[in-house]
Amino acid sequence: MINLSLILTLLCYQPGIVLKNVSIIDGTGSPARKNTNLIIRDGIIQNISQSIPAGGASIDMTGKFIMPLISNVHGHLGNVKDTTMSAANYTPANVRHQLQRYLDYGVGAILSMGTEQPVGVKIRDSSRAGLIPGATMYSAIFGFGVKSSLPPESMGFSHVYRPETKEEAIKDVDELAPLKPDAIKIWVDGNPAMKEEIYTAIIDEAHQHGIRVASHLYRLSDARKLVAAGVDIIAHSIRDEEIDEAFAAEIKKKNIIYIPTLTLDEFAFIYAENPEWLNDPFFREALDPGVYEMITSPAYKEKIKNNPAAQREKEALRIAMKNLLTLFRAGVTIALGTDSGAMPIRVQGFAEHLEMELMVQAGLSPLEAIRVATLNAAAALQADKHTGSLEPGKAASFIVLDKDPSVDIRNTRRINGIWVKGRKISSGPEKQ
Ligand SMILES: [Zn+2]
Repeated sequence: MINLSLILTLLCYQPGIVLKNVSIIDGTGSPARKNTNLIIRDGIIQNISQSIPAGGASIDMTGKFIMPLISNVHGHLGNVKDTTMSAANYTPANVRHQLQRYLDYGVGAILSMGTEQPVGVKIRDSSRAGLIPGATMYSAIFGFGVKSSLPPESMGFSHVYRPETKEEAIKDVDELAPLKPDAIKIWVDGNPAMKEEIYTAIIDEAHQHGIRVASHLYRLSDARKLVAAGVDIIAHSIRDEEIDEAFAAEIKKKNIIYIPTLTLDEFAFIYAENPEWLNDPFFREALDPGVYEMITSPAYKEKIKNNPAAQREKEALRIAMKNLLTLFRAGVTIALGTDSGAMPIRVQGFAEHLEMELMVQAGLSPLEAIRVATLNAAAALQADKHTGSLEPGKAASFIVLDKDPSVDIRNTRRINGIWVKGRKISSGPEKQ
């Protein structure tokens, strides 16, 4: 006689799915595990194993590589449309379109850094509840800047707190906190700059609410003051001066997360130099209408060549790369961020892959760059319990690649499929 519990077990049994003979780059920095099997059940990785459980569906993935979805810990949503930047671009449809584009490129989560319009709070909440497709949205909601300074209102950054006193700053943080921002974003180094006492008050009040503060910056002198004031996340590279080992050690000791946004500097000048990827469909598919025509027009290229600020970014990028390596070697947690979506030339989806290439140029190995883009970035989002690496118990969310990114980081662009929670949801940007 068959017992009741066995019958129940048989009735409830879901065979799951096995991806056979695949090479797995798990996001921890470990080398690829070649020709193994990924066993998925209920959207979760059950095992990575040489043996395959009996029964159930399987897909032969001989020759394919799998890596975790990327997280972009510094991006912007909704502000850009076609070749324009404007608060009017911030519609639910545009934000959703951008979240979908990120995911088609293998970016599973994005932290939008403080440039939301009010409707963005609802979109963030829906995204986090799994109610809308695309990358999972995290947000600093409304950031903190300075009147008539950064971030520029003329670029669409209209819904930003711009406190003029310490007291006002504290009141603004208290108003924002109930909306549960995933971080608080500050811009300190415009002209005029944010007073030290104001950002110190923002940081202290944010910490009272248990919220981390991420700062825009450029200069080492500002970084030193922000680190002393207790900033949690450095949201761009320090790129006016090379940093020394003592300061790197201090950043490490304080567990500050460092987001290099190398592509921001590269995008400022590279279009005038016909980069090798300019006509790659993987790049062009990421562009809104009109952007390709803009960046390839002789007038635009001339403008960049004659713009001293754009040309200075080459030296800034060199210093940023040097500093990245110093901080990485000092053991600082580096997380991938790109500032994509802040301007049309900072291309969402593509930027995150280019960022990994620039990290490798800076001296990280491809596996280290992948860890920065996946596990480290998920940890920066405090989402690494369930995402960020391919390990039993974590979400079966990953990128399937046709070529090995650990031998050439540009192979992260050879997307065969995007899987979320055990289901293939996209074939990548060029195959929609
Ligand atoms: Zn930004």
